[in-house]
Amino acid sequence: MGLHLQNYISYTQDDDDVDLSLKTLTSIDAVPNVDVIKEWIPKVKAICISHAHLDHVGAAPFLAKEFNCPIHGTPYTIEVLKLLLEDKEIKIPNRLIVHDVNSVFKISENIKIEFISITHSVIHTVMIVIHSKYGKIVYANDFKLDNQPTLGSKSNLGRMSQLNDVKLMIMDSLYANRPIKTPSESVAKELLREVMISTNSKGKAIVVSTFSSHLARLKSIIEFSKQLKRNVVFLGRSIEKYIRAGENIKIIEFSKYGKIIKYRQQVQNFLKKCKNPEDYVFIVTGHQGEPKSVLARMVFNNYFNFKKEDIVIFSCTIIPGEENIRNREKIESELKKKKVRIFRDIHVSGHGAREDARDLINMIKPKNLIPTHSETTTAENFIELAEEMGYKENKNVFLLKNGQKLIFK
Ligand SMILES: [Zn+2]
Repeated sequence: MGLHLQNYISYTQDDDDVDLSLKTLTSIDAVPNVDVIKEWIPKVKAICISHAHLDHVGAAPFLAKEFNCPIHGTPYTIEVLKLLLEDKEIKIPNRLIVHDVNSVFKISENIKIEFISITHSVIHTVMIVIHSKYGKIVYANDFKLDNQPTLGSKSNLGRMSQLNDVKLMIMDSLYANRPIKTPSESVAKELLREVMISTNSKGKAIVVSTFSSHLARLKSIIEFSKQLKRNVVFLGRSIEKYIRAGENIKIIEFSKYGKIIKYRQQVQNFLKKCKNPEDYVFIVTGHQGEPKSVLARMVFNNYFNFKKEDIVIFSCTIIPGEENIRNREKIESELKKKKVRIFRDIHVSGHGAREDARDLINMIKPKNLIPTHSETTTAENFIELAEEMGYKENKNVFLLKNGQKLIFK
């Protein structure tokens, strides 16, 4: 149920009034092509979504109606889906069913689903276990193994290591090429502390941009803003959406700490009228340099009068892709012309690396493995790790292409 974000964004960005029919979105590869499972569609019992990122839930508004079954997810995931539907004014016939992290539910006579808490860069992420009479199938997309998360629950390692008879694990291998264990979100918090608290920002504006759905990161930014005795103001549509989803289900109360301004005109008015920017931390959309974001408008459309040595913090990395690289370059070079101080890469990833993958495989002990969520070369690094651990390519670890089927006997 995920969107291919690059394909979707480059198709929709120039125009607000584009054809969002399933046929068109399938033809541009923005949503999964369900033709390959055509004969199963009437038999599908449930759609289970592991977390609230758009590359996992973003296609549900267009695709879910093809399936005559409910959608299951954790509270934050379902709340984000509701707001996506509201945003796009789309109605789907599927029932939306909320389950807490670490819960089990039956979807048919023969199949039970278990949601096990696992850490990632959005709260309420779960590893999904399909319990069937043929054994268990584990879906671990996406994850990191963070022992000190700064918001939300830890990974339920106890339950994971109890699972037995796991026939197959389908898992996140995005950073299988990195020979490390991905640092905790608490490390990202320290990186932010260094920049926000230890840099002399007296009399200067501070602008921070990060992933809008990364509530843990936003929480740290709020905490340091309070220490600096500055007011927080959240600017932009997507930030508003992900904060509202969290507040609707009462897991955060960010609006207590600062104004949230959603619409472009109001953002512009607020920034134009702001006489004392040095009293604020502006949390804005635009970490990838997106041309319609608040940051891009502050820089290019004169929404904001940047002064020498004002501070702009990118609490993210650039998601690889020519367009992102180009967009960020444009923004950064314009900021440099304005003599603004730029702090990049104040971030740690939400995806595990090679040593996280090893730990998870050792814990779950699956009979078979399928790496996903990566380029072919990275998946090859995953295969190499699996072989080091005793698996063998095409015997019990498989590198599949889109649309390819695999039968376990
Ligand atoms: Zn994700």
